[in-house]
Amino acid sequence: MQLKENEYRFGTFHGRHDGAPAKVTAIRDDTRPEPYFWLCSCGAGRSFPTEDGVFATAWRHTHPTRLDRLRQWATRRLRTRRAAR
Ligand SMILES: [Zn+2]
Repeated sequence: MQLKENEYRFGTFHGRHDGAPAKVTAIRDDTRPEPYFWLCSCGAGRSFPTEDGVFATAWRHTHPTRLDRLRQWATRRLRTRRAAR
């Protein structure tokens, strides 16, 4: 991706989601109200007031499969159990 003059890339994450490769670029731009943000090749993005949270959420976005599938499975299981009672 193309960075603007005031943008500084401080991290890149390669991963997959929705069955396709995904790349997240973490960027700092001091002209924004929330200077830390990341953008994914899928078009998703998030911004933060500090660096905290940027890496964790970027990593999570590009590596969702195992944990998210487990969570979906657990939610389904709970629902099934409640429905059975
Ligand atoms: Zn994405």
